[in-house]
Amino acid sequence: MKKAMILLLSLMLTFVFVACNSSDTDQPKPQPNNEISEKEENIQPVEVEEVTPEETDQSEESTEEPTEEPTEETKEEVVLEPEPINYEEVQPNEIGSIMVVMYHGIMDNPPYHRTAEDFKKDLSYMYENGYRPISIEDYINNNITVQAGLTPIVLAFDDGLSSSFSLTKGDDGTLVPKEGTAVYMMEEFYKEHPDFGKAATFFINGDDAFGEGDGTYRERLQWLVDNDYSLGNHTATHAHLNTLSADELQKEMAIVDEMISNAVPGYEVRSLAYPFGERPLNAIDLVEEGTYNDYTYTNEIAFRVGYSAPYVGPNHINYQPFNHPRVTASEGYDWDLWYAFNYYEQSPNQRYRSDGNPNTIAVPSNQEKNVNMDSLGEKELIVY
Ligand SMILES: [Zn+2]
Repeated sequence: MKKAMILLLSLMLTFVFVACNSSDTDQPKPQPNNEISEKEENIQPVEVEEVTPEETDQSEESTEEPTEEPTEETKEEVVLEPEPINYEEVQPNEIGSIMVVMYHGIMDNPPYHRTAEDFKKDLSYMYENGYRPISIEDYINNNITVQAGLTPIVLAFDDGLSSSFSLTKGDDGTLVPKEGTAVYMMEEFYKEHPDFGKAATFFINGDDAFGEGDGTYRERLQWLVDNDYSLGNHTATHAHLNTLSADELQKEMAIVDEMISNAVPGYEVRSLAYPFGERPLNAIDLVEEGTYNDYTYTNEIAFRVGYSAPYVGPNHINYQPFNHPRVTASEGYDWDLWYAFNYYEQSPNQRYRSDGNPNTIAVPSNQEKNVNMDSLGEKELIVY
């Protein structure tokens, strides 16, 4: 039944894309939210005052014990009540588009790799244009806490390449990210712009991920998790999943999941990136859950390569977690990241725009019909 539904949805989506795309390319034109109403055309993007983490800390909760300097840990545990917002001013749209950006290595080999200079340019653009990176866990959990008016974005790095992350011994002998890697640049950017936050997911294979440089496999993966990055499954051998038997398929996923679990005890892998973007259409249930050698893995989301469908998040009726598109991190190629950046400049109301409160889902009244009511859980739907 589930397979039949997925097949039906795929067919429906294919029909929609063919119907609204007159070009010869097999890539559909990004129209992330399907609907643009007359009302949306009149909505202007709202300038929202930036609030730095320091300012946020001066809340009632954190000033209750003024003598105690909060540590990193206690800071995280403080639950701040979000400030009430004026919906008409902020215009939150919490079923708008959330992009998942697909990077690989830091090198001059587009479109799958990105130079250091261009990666910094991407981060600066995101920062200055109201995008804020969120973790894959927050995306899966639909726990979006970015400040009111801003747009979450998910950054992903495939293949476990050492140019995306590797460690080196710092001056005091501790392991630190190697200069020039994507992680080094994200850490530097975060130091200069703490309100940007930092988050990225590394989809790795069964080989010696991030192997150039210092530190053991375990130390490298543990460093990432300890520093707020996430890990995902990219299959043991970067396999063509649509060619495998059920046993082979489960082996490909179980091996990586178990390697990560052994390296970082307690870390739960919840996401997969399909190698080559190829989905095992007849065995999507084995992507969700499977067992090999008595080891059971589960995934809650799986990503394709590049743009393949509109970017819709967990509360949208068209959300398909096991057929999730990603945008290729390049500039000047079809439907890539910079195409999308420009597209959303022209159509800002297609973007997800946060209300700043993860417990409420706020949408303009003309978008209410696109909300999947079953996805709300305990969250309150606010239509304005
Ligand atoms: Zn790959």
